[in-house]
Amino acid sequence: MKVIEHYEKATEPLISFEIIPPKRGRSVKQIFDSIEKLMPVHPPFIDVTYHAAESYIEELPDGTVKRHIKRKRPGTIGLCAAILHRFGVDPVPHLICEGFTKEESEDALIELNYLGIDNVLAIRGDDSGVSYNFRKNGTVNKFAIDLVKQISNMNRGIYMEDIANADPTDFCIGVAGYPEKHFEAPNLDWDIQRLKEKVVAGGEYVVTQMFYDNSAYIRFVEKCREAGIQVPIVPGIKVLTSHRHLTTLPKYFHLNIPDPLTDELQADPDNAKQIGIEWCAKQCTELLEYGVPGIHFYVMGDPQPALDVIAKIPTGHNIRV
Ligand code: FAD
Repeated sequence: MKVIEHYEKATEPLISFEIIPPKRGRSVKQIFDSIEKLMPVHPPFIDVTYHAAESYIEELPDGTVKRHIKRKRPGTIGLCAAILHRFGVDPVPHLICEGFTKEESEDALIELNYLGIDNVLAIRGDDSGVSYNFRKNGTVNKFAIDLVKQISNMNRGIYMEDIANADPTDFCIGVAGYPEKHFEAPNLDWDIQRLKEKVVAGGEYVVTQMFYDNSAYIRFVEKCREAGIQVPIVPGIKVLTSHRHLTTLPKYFHLNIPDPLTDELQADPDNAKQIGIEWCAKQCTELLEYGVPGIHFYVMGDPQPALDVIAKIPTGHNIRV
């Protein structure tokens, strides 16, 4: 079932999760065990992230360049098939522009369609060190909107080539939004206009970057509504679990950690996990009171902190657990 149908049919806010494929060579059992732990919450869908191969470019003495792969993290499509067919939960594979040609994205989408997967989160990805120019004979999607347009075209039966079996796909497309603005955007209003373009191009719902201050999310939603974005805007939430997160989360995700949370962590660094869980439970409770369509937990490799948070949300808040 499509993610947008889950939201439209829901009578209470939905709890969903996002996981990351294990590093190459790790046993699939570990990730199945993690997913198993999420099942008592009955998530309607689970996202699986996608990652471009990490690589670097070597400049050769003759002035040409060579690309070397440093690390691959495969598994998104296989994991999505397992989530659907082993756990009976709708998977949402992330598809990224960065590091892939349009032809490769089309092949991946044909594969997902064949597997019976109804949803895709279309994102740009971050610089993997592979310049687009190094991809021979291929076209690329530069921004997420280009990928959204490609998927919307396939939903109308428009493929890159005039192929014989160009049956229309029927993917529900999700897109990313940034309550504290994307780090490359000159300002929030400009970024929201880019988000609106993604929605007009076919994005049916928005999942936000993580945030620790609900007022940033609420302001973002209000500005999106003013800008004419009417689709569900689902808060993405990550439990802060270590004192190191005070610097790593702002560094990698370009977000702000509010003073009261920073002060608590500084005063009691050894108790960071418990402080993070308490903060997150309070944050989620307030968001549910505000009337969010659901909460999307970034659990990545470890589901336990998010499960601890869910257990702390006071009864009376109608979440589907
Ligand atoms: P875009 O929507 O393309 O926006 C990127 C920047 O370009 C923004 O500043 C925007 O304002 C600007 N922009 C957009 N359109 C234009 C235009 N036409 N002209 C000029 N500027 C423009 N990364 C991964 O590698 N794998 C994942 O699985 C993954 N999952 C994610 C899930 C969520 C919910 C979120 C919020 C992020 C995720 N990311 C993931 C990170 C994401 O790839 C980065 O944040 C990336 O830098 C931006 O992706 P985007 O889809 O928001 O890009």
